[in-house]
Amino acid sequence: MECSERFDHISKLISDKGLRMTLPRKTILDALADEDGYLSAEDLYHKIHPNQPGLGLATVYRTLVLLSSLGIVTKLEIGEGKARYELADTEHHHLIVCERCHKVVKYSDFTTQEKDGFAALEKLVEETYHFSIKRHVVQYYGTCPECLAENNGE
Ligand SMILES: [Zn+2]
Ligand SMILES: [Zn+2]
Repeated sequence: MECSERFDHISKLISDKGLRMTLPRKTILDALADEDGYLSAEDLYHKIHPNQPGLGLATVYRTLVLLSSLGIVTKLEIGEGKARYELADTEHHHLIVCERCHKVVKYSDFTTQEKDGFAALEKLVEETYHFSIKRHVVQYYGTCPECLAENNGE
């Protein structure tokens, strides 16, 4: 989806809920749209602060909770003691999380092997549990190349 198109879509989601596109909401959505990854409430606050010094951390938290309950942002918890957020994506992706430095790699350029593998897995689950599977969420956890190298250097 084009950026402006995505924004129209988000504005509509907000107004459908009888809510208004307020300045804090718009500012936070803009900041998230600008980033291709997950940001914590603190990250967002620091990013927004120079331009919007009046927007406090409590408002950022509240807005993120609201946007995530509306399904406009996706919340990610990877065991670092704080949640991270991104705009709910229309493009399907998988995540690889480093358990040491909490780096998150997001990719959607799947190899044919991975695609076929997941198609086969979904089919297996459908046959076993008699569900019709519509989607899946994938988060791999492990150690990133930098942390592996650091580990070997010790
Ligand atoms: Zn997938
Ligand atoms: Zn790492």
